[in-house]
Amino acid sequence: MRFSPRATTACRRFLPLAVIVLIFILTSAPTASASAYNAHPKLVVVIIIDQFRGDYLERYRDQFGEGGFRLLLDHGANFTDCNYDYANTRTAPGHATLFSAAYSSGHGIVANEWWDSKKKKMVTSVEDDNTKLVGIADDKAGASPHNLLADTLGDELKLATQGKSRVFSVSLKDRAAILPGGFAADAAFWIDPKSGAWITSTYYRPNLPKWAQDFNAANRATKYWDRDWKNANGDLLRSTAHRKGKDGSDAGFYDVVGSTPFANEYELEFAKELVIYENLGAGQATDLLAISLSPNDILGHQVGPDSPEMSAMALALDRELADFFNFLGHQVGLANTWIALSADHGVSALPDAAKKLRIPAANLDAGKLETQINSALTAKFSPAIALRLPVRLLPGQPSPEVLIELTEAVNFYLRDPMVETPVEFFHSVLASMCGAGDGSLWLILEEDPALFLHRGVDDGFKLPGGFTSPSSDLSSTKFVETWFRRLLEQKAECVTCPWQQICQGYFKWPDPAYDCGGVKRLFSAIKAAADEMGLELARRDRADPSAELAKVGPGASP
Ligand code: SF4
Ligand SMILES: [Zn+2]
Repeated sequence: MRFSPRATTACRRFLPLAVIVLIFILTSAPTASASAYNAHPKLVVVIIIDQFRGDYLERYRDQFGEGGFRLLLDHGANFTDCNYDYANTRTAPGHATLFSAAYSSGHGIVANEWWDSKKKKMVTSVEDDNTKLVGIADDKAGASPHNLLADTLGDELKLATQGKSRVFSVSLKDRAAILPGGFAADAAFWIDPKSGAWITSTYYRPNLPKWAQDFNAANRATKYWDRDWKNANGDLLRSTAHRKGKDGSDAGFYDVVGSTPFANEYELEFAKELVIYENLGAGQATDLLAISLSPNDILGHQVGPDSPEMSAMALALDRELADFFNFLGHQVGLANTWIALSADHGVSALPDAAKKLRIPAANLDAGKLETQINSALTAKFSPAIALRLPVRLLPGQPSPEVLIELTEAVNFYLRDPMVETPVEFFHSVLASMCGAGDGSLWLILEEDPALFLHRGVDDGFKLPGGFTSPSSDLSSTKFVETWFRRLLEQKAECVTCPWQQICQGYFKWPDPAYDCGGVKRLFSAIKAAADEMGLELARRDRADPSAELAKVGPGASP
């Protein structure tokens, strides 16, 4: 088994969250590692424990029994200087790295999920619209390794043996089963999170193999519900009683059983059936089985690495591995089996645990951080976009001056009944300016002068119907025409106003002496935003002609 030097040599930067430990059971003398590499094992089993830090092996070593981790620690080769040379370790990239010996720049799996700019939505690292799930009636897309850019250990094994080797992978999580399996795997199996039933996808096969169907049909997941998980002292750690999830629906197998050692047992039970019924280790060439054990990660995210539950989990897994290795010994023979153990990533101490030791730590409010980042990005790259929906008057608008003016304007108009709905007002004006629509405010806001609440000369507000018309014709168009002409004749401020085209005396009604300074500043700010927005929309149009965004504004082209 060869790993790229990139993944196995000492790293310049030691990242405590990403310690990898690889342990081989040598088929000959423990010190003669060369002979181990020359051997031809019948079966290679790579066990990945999701979120299992390298130091756990030493932390719990004294408490491990015989035959589990100790089998590997005492009789294997322990590579303690293996690290992921990147900080943001995650499940999907970690599994892809372990089995391809490349980093994300090489294997293409940069995260568990990412933004797909073509689909304009988040996608997971393995979801694949061209496949369907197998083993469950579900309309959701299936999954495959289609995003992988590098081949894997299993792929190379298949190539080297002209397909004679069989390659399988198992995990509770789809990504942790699919990425280790690579392209050429005979099958990758993972569970339906709700029921715990084992499933795969049409990428691999049209139906579950008979033995897997029988496994599901026997409801083997059922026995792990409604059980108490206790530590060695008999203290209750948690129960797998049925309960409601955060959204009020029944929590599924993945969430309830998945965070206990019962789920590791469940995974290893399935792996045993796979070894037996697929006759792994009994073929013409070396077979490969990858098992990614997810429960440590599911629990670790809930309680952190230093909780009593995590230590109980490690000790329970020790016994479960001992049982599994014992099974492999009987089924295949340990002398014919290579076992490698590693992890896709580690985990840091909880902030509260670190703080107790006076180590600087802080809880991160991800939602707040996202808002701050979005505001900063918006201010830098497309400030006007934030004004497209004017209710989003967030910190980080185009410039402090515009922000102050808009805030003043909003405050003023929120308290002024002349503008019934300020948000709509700003939106309409912005859309009009951006879309090159040059209708007057009267038209944009569809105000009928005969029904328009207005400011009287005494600075009080008059209700509709109580004013004297400057014209006998009260139709909107005639009224505006007449009113604005009269303002110009009176040499009102409107004569030199740069906004007269769009305003047409709107704010002077019915008091020609009204000071429009604030209104003009507001218009300037909105126009600046509209210009920026126009540029941004044009840029998007060029990048993606089908962009729906171009439809903003009454005068915009379709
Ligand atoms: S903003 Fe004021 S000065 Fe300018 S056109 Fe409108 S009412 Fe006249
Ligand atoms: Zn993980």
